[in-house]
Amino acid sequence: MPIPTAHVDVAVPVPLRQTFTYAVPPELAGALLPGQRVAVPFGRRKLAGFVLGPVLEPPQGTRIKAVLGLLGHDPVFDSELLGFLLEAARYYLHPIGEVLRAAAPAMPREAVEALRRSGRLGAQETFKGGQLRTRSILYVSLVASDGNLRGARQRALMTLLSERNELSIDELRRHIKDPRGVVRALEGKGLVRTEIREVPENPFFASPVALEEGPTPNEEQQIAIDAILSRLGPTASRAPVGASFLLQGVTGSGKTEVYLRVIARARELGLSALLLVPEIALTPQLVARFRARFGDDIAILHSELGERARDDAWRSLRQGRARIAIGARSALFAPVQRLGVVIVDEEHDGSFKQEDGFRYHARDMALLRAHRAGAVCVLGSATPSLESVTLAHHNRLTHLHLRARATRQALPEVEVVDLSRHRNGPTGHRLLSGPLFVALRTCLEEGGQAILFLNRRGFSPALRCETCGEIQECPACSVSLTGHRKMRLLRCHYCDFSRPTDTPCGACGRRPLLELGLGTEQLEAMLHEAFPAARVARLDRDTASGRGVEAVLERVRNGQLDVLVGTQMVTKGHDLPNVTLVGVVLADQSLAFPDFRASERTFQLLSQVAGRAGRGERPGRVILQTYQPTQPAVAHARTHDFEGFCDQEMAERRAHRYPPFARLAALRVDATSDQAARRAIGALAAVAERHPEVREGRVDVLGPAPAPIARLRARYRHRLLLRSADRVALRRVARTLVTHMDGGIGPARASIDMDPVNML
Ligand code: ADP
Ligand code: ZN
Repeated sequence: MPIPTAHVDVAVPVPLRQTFTYAVPPELAGALLPGQRVAVPFGRRKLAGFVLGPVLEPPQGTRIKAVLGLLGHDPVFDSELLGFLLEAARYYLHPIGEVLRAAAPAMPREAVEALRRSGRLGAQETFKGGQLRTRSILYVSLVASDGNLRGARQRALMTLLSERNELSIDELRRHIKDPRGVVRALEGKGLVRTEIREVPENPFFASPVALEEGPTPNEEQQIAIDAILSRLGPTASRAPVGASFLLQGVTGSGKTEVYLRVIARARELGLSALLLVPEIALTPQLVARFRARFGDDIAILHSELGERARDDAWRSLRQGRARIAIGARSALFAPVQRLGVVIVDEEHDGSFKQEDGFRYHARDMALLRAHRAGAVCVLGSATPSLESVTLAHHNRLTHLHLRARATRQALPEVEVVDLSRHRNGPTGHRLLSGPLFVALRTCLEEGGQAILFLNRRGFSPALRCETCGEIQECPACSVSLTGHRKMRLLRCHYCDFSRPTDTPCGACGRRPLLELGLGTEQLEAMLHEAFPAARVARLDRDTASGRGVEAVLERVRNGQLDVLVGTQMVTKGHDLPNVTLVGVVLADQSLAFPDFRASERTFQLLSQVAGRAGRGERPGRVILQTYQPTQPAVAHARTHDFEGFCDQEMAERRAHRYPPFARLAALRVDATSDQAARRAIGALAAVAERHPEVREGRVDVLGPAPAPIARLRARYRHRLLLRSADRVALRRVARTLVTHMDGGIGPARASIDMDPVNML
């Protein structure tokens, strides 16, 4: 509905927690719509803001400026998405203008240029947006299902159409030789209809995938599918409570198959689906499975797609031409029409949390978006977050279980190797212990493949000066530099700093520097030496990105590699059937983080990497090396005991009043001088301490304290945590602090993070 008033409310992308009133110029009277992008004057600048709605009583006593012009006719956000984003901005106490800018696709180039020119934009200067790169495709759809059919090809085509209703000629070609003639014949009988449509080009769909049926769901899958489908429907109103689900199933139990069935039904009902995955670059197989089931009616939102392709994907969803959106956390903002189902795969994954700018948690927001849209939401994981388990305990999520692997393979056996009791292995290195070495040799002799997981890239994670003992640190961050041999560099993994390996010690100016610890680069070299006949490759951020990952995994699948060494990248949901051995080189690494979730994250990581073993015909085996075999994350990962881990960890959290038994808000301050940062956080802490909710004990203030990484990119960092079981009280204090922050805190920068994940 166009806005009839003389004034509109506009969200402007500035770091201010408010919106602004603008006058509607005569040429745009009655033409503005909520969600449209408009050019507005702001101070001496011109900015692209978003129309939110009408203003009936414009503020008195200030000069109200007028909107300069429209930057695109079609609203960028429809009412469902706009309403959701407004609520998200309120929840995270983040400026709405910045939220909308973060959620919107890039502006078309003509709009950017118009914004740069001075003066008012004429009404004729509105923009349709960039041109879509498209190709013409012939679609065939079903008109009537019975008639007299002649020949096997006609019958095959009609069978396909009765299942899928509509297929492109390209898809038909994969099933039927030379389908055009058959289509023409059936069209003549009035059984099918054809139509040429312009379809956006997407490089992701370069190679065709054969359509496939998928297995018949087993009993547990069917129970889960039925439960979810019973709440799926085109309701205009809010979804009934209980329309959100936690689908807990061990790796390989067939969760993806459940998603596929639910989405298939949603499509039959004319509804669309949104699937969020941790990292789209690491899930080419998942995307391929969706394409194999649904054809090319899918928009992939991939950060590595060019701006143009991303824009195409956005538009095909906005116009309802694509009805499935798949992407990483920012796909949460995909303009899916008639949203019927939202799925968050691997919901426990930390990458769903955006850690700068608009800090949101895509899992929490997926629940909100689905709820507002009347859609069902499914959170899937083998190792659900304790937050989601708690929601299930409180019946806010319906807990569904898949207890066995779908293909009836057993979960792999996990052996724990206590590194403190083992001497150096045959290579002379402790981290390639005797048992791991022997298991690797056996695996290779039997023609199996192995994955070795080590969460440190580079050759050695730290370097010490042999003369003065100084650990070489980054000059801008309080972090040790990592040695990279092939690149001949010492690098900081937090900023872009690097220096050549042969430069002298930063403290005393002497040489040499001793390499400490083990990184993936060194592990790869060790394996080359120990198993010269084996084909070894490494997968980490230094060796692969985007399509590179796919290429390496493809080589594993094709049997061109024997051992894959890597960081977290190797732990994700890859299905590599010939992998029979998984080695976790050092399980303790992620336990050492100064973070109350360190144990939970370790358990998740160990379970996930263990799940890579034995997915094919042959049973899998996992060797887990650690110095802390009795630590709960390690001990329970050994027995695949999620419940046992969960109970023990919940008790810990309850005792220390950490989430999910309380909520947190983090206030972070950084400045170029430590003094300025200390002063700013001190002032915020003082405001917090005076707040009645804090004085009366409903909200705790933890800190202020220097952050564990006290200096990052040459800025000193301090923080303050608010904690409370009472969410309303917590928000009250947080809002007061944010108002104080907005009033200015000297030369320091400050930000708030509701429900923080990153504790560094
Ligand atoms: P998850 O997502 O839980 O890891 P997947 O859905 O990827 O599990 O299933 C693991 C493997 O089992 C896949 O190869 C899949 O095709 C297969 N699978 C899933 N469901 C069934 C079923 N009902 N019968 C036979 N195989 C199945
Ligand atoms: Zn650095």
